Amino acid sequence: MVKLPENFETFDEKRKKGFIALMEEKEKGKKVVGTFCTYTPVELIMAAGAVSVSLCGNSELGIPEAEAVLPKTLCPLIKSSYGLAATDRCPYFYFSDMILAETTCDGKKKMYELLNEIKPVHVMHLPQGQNGPLALQEWTEQIRQTAKYIGDFFNTEITEEKLHEAIVERNRIRRAILNAYEVTKLVPSPISGYELSTVIEATDFHFTDDDIVEYLESKTREFLSDYKPQDSDKKPRPRLMLTGCPHTGVREKIIKKVEDLGADIVVLDSCAGPRTQRIPVDETKDPYEALAEKYLKINCSVMTPNNGRLKDMKAVIEEYKVDGVIEMVLFACHTFAIEAHTTERFIKDELNIPYIRIDTDFSSSDSGQIQTRLEAFLEMIS
Ligand code: SF4
Ligand code: SF4
Repeated sequence: MVKLPENFETFDEKRKKGFIALMEEKEKGKKVVGTFCTYTPVELIMAAGAVSVSLCGNSELGIPEAEAVLPKTLCPLIKSSYGLAATDRCPYFYFSDMILAETTCDGKKKMYELLNEIKPVHVMHLPQGQNGPLALQEWTEQIRQTAKYIGDFFNTEITEEKLHEAIVERNRIRRAILNAYEVTKLVPSPISGYELSTVIEATDFHFTDDDIVEYLESKTREFLSDYKPQDSDKKPRPRLMLTGCPHTGVREKIIKKVEDLGADIVVLDSCAGPRTQRIPVDETKDPYEALAEKYLKINCSVMTPNNGRLKDMKAVIEEYKVDGVIEMVLFACHTFAIEAHTTERFIKDELNIPYIRIDTDFSSSDSGQIQTRLEAFLEMIS
């Protein structure tokens, strides 16, 4: 019988739902692998017959406990991830048999060493750049070694055939996610960015490929059926892109806030957004090389250089008819903070699009100040 954590009754409804859903999967004998980052080739987990779950790390909860161990001056995402895991308040970490992690930013890779004291963590060594002569070769080798590690861990063999099946399945899920994202290309957008991000996040409560795809397809149909052409008497709402650090921890104070003020976030341009979902894994070549190629194309600020992000941004800004860009940088995220200088110049000077940068964390202490800045930004765009 699978046990719930002792502090279960103090959890909010959303996390309770996640716990129960995953507990049912564990009771059926499912193996679970927790992940933190978009660079994780989840196809390896699928090919081992296990379920991959995104670990929590998007709220203030757990941060005070994390700060007893980690530096206060660390990115809130890392502190929240560690704190929720260490205090048994992340359902997905609690039920994970192992964690599949990666060397992206320094804070995360050092935090994994501490997490490994609680649960087995396998760290994949990601190249620091996408283009060096050995980058693809090294990353392909990392993926091969990780397949072996996961296979041994779960006492199974990840064959090329199983991997190919997982690649095909994951591409199907990617298409379903992309189709949901692309609904906001319509003018006006039939759904808010807040609702869309909630729907995408809720895929975490679905643990089979068919469930995920059916859920996303039904939501996409629902969104499309809500579409109404622009009323010519009404002033169109500004269409914004949110870029920068992963945004799930600031949904209330940035996404919801700016939409309440009269704009629409039509592109959630994070590492897991449309620019990443639109690249499938090649189903025709060696599965390890195909996975390495796909995942190395993710344009995250941890890569140097990361010029592909600008190219992707330009394409997405045009396709989604974006009027303005909000860049969100989490405190102490050095890679995104430094790169923001480049994105600001690119967006303002080359694309001639209004841009605002907001540096924040997961607390609500700066909500008033952010609202004032967003109001001024919208006034400038309108
Ligand atoms: S922003 Fe970069 S490091 Fe963070 S989850 Fe995304 S890909 Fe990983
Ligand atoms: S937001 Fe920045 S510092 Fe935080 S985990 Fe992601 S890359 Fe690392």
